Amino acid sequence: MSKRVKHPTRNAVVALAAAGMGASMVFGGGAAVAADSKTVPAAGPAAAVAAQAHTQAVQAKAAEAAAAKKAALVKKAAAANAAKKAALVKKAAAKKATSWVKPVARYTLTASFNQGGAMWSHKHSGQDFAVPVGTVVKAAHSGVVVKAGPNGGGDGPAYGNAIVVKHANGRYSQYAHLSKIDVRVGQTVKTGQNIARSGNTGNSSGPHLHFEIRTTPNYGSALNPAKFLRAEGVVI
Ligand SMILES: [Zn+2]
Repeated sequence: MSKRVKHPTRNAVVALAAAGMGASMVFGGGAAVAADSKTVPAAGPAAAVAAQAHTQAVQAKAAEAAAAKKAALVKKAAAANAAKKAALVKKAAAKKATSWVKPVARYTLTASFNQGGAMWSHKHSGQDFAVPVGTVVKAAHSGVVVKAGPNGGGDGPAYGNAIVVKHANGRYSQYAHLSKIDVRVGQTVKTGQNIARSGNTGNSSGPHLHFEIRTTPNYGSALNPAKFLRAEGVVI
């Protein structure tokens, strides 16, 4: 029995030793774990670097996308600008076709509309442009010639040689005191087309072009031609 009693003691010692070993092993294991857990924070910066790299990659991708978006916008804006420019050119061309021009290129303005004076039985019915005899007279706008000839084309001798052109807007332009008439009644004329040469015929105090804008083909229906042209974008 004593042998048997000793045995448990030895066994207990062995067991204790084993337990001690076990404890130390456990402790050692714990230390190792602690040591490992210390290396985990050491891996932290590496993870942060990786995260940062990832962030940078995401940012780069975002920047790339933004650049692509910007490029697309720039391209779109350029296309819009080109379309706008083309529309403006088209508009300018259309405007040119419908625009009015001065009947003479170089001149000195003399008697204006409604001006009183000994030269006219009533107020002055047009705008006078002083120009040398033989100056090219142009149609202020496209239209059809409805009067052309001496005696003011039928309006009276005071006008001398004269032309009246009918326009699409229902207005008429008249050119008087001409030295030479280069169109005939019924002829279609374009805006700016040479239709006559200026002169000093009729009741005229000196070489000039008398220019009227009328609401009918006839004398007595004149509007202020300077004001009319200004409304059409032509400042004399
Ligand atoms: Zn006049």
